[in-house]
Amino acid sequence: MNEQEELRAGLAEARRRAAERVAKREDGLRALTRARRSASDDDEHDPEGETLSAQWSLRAGLLADARETLRQADAALERLGRGEYGICRVCGGPIPPAQLEVRPFRESCVACG
Ligand SMILES: [Zn+2]
Repeated sequence: MNEQEELRAGLAEARRRAAERVAKREDGLRALTRARRSASDDDEHDPEGETLSAQWSLRAGLLADARETLRQADAALERLGRGEYGICRVCGGPIPPAQLEVRPFRESCVACG
């Protein structure tokens, strides 16, 4: 494998993991939505209902994070296809490999945020 192919394989694998996380969190949220619906049918002021609400907010946030990561993974693969992967979108300079190792989907260098 050349460097480009290795990069693509690495990004594709990271994208697959991100997609799995989204699916898992969607399932969790769906189950919780069902639990919450049946809890609020029983009694609106049921303390269990409030706990479920808090859990739901937390999980909805986690799902949004996972979706954002997946979007970034897709964008990174697209940039790789255009030969723009690893190039800062802001200053146009190369993003240091060490920074890409920490966050493979990053679109700008640390200096540009
Ligand atoms: Zn930059």
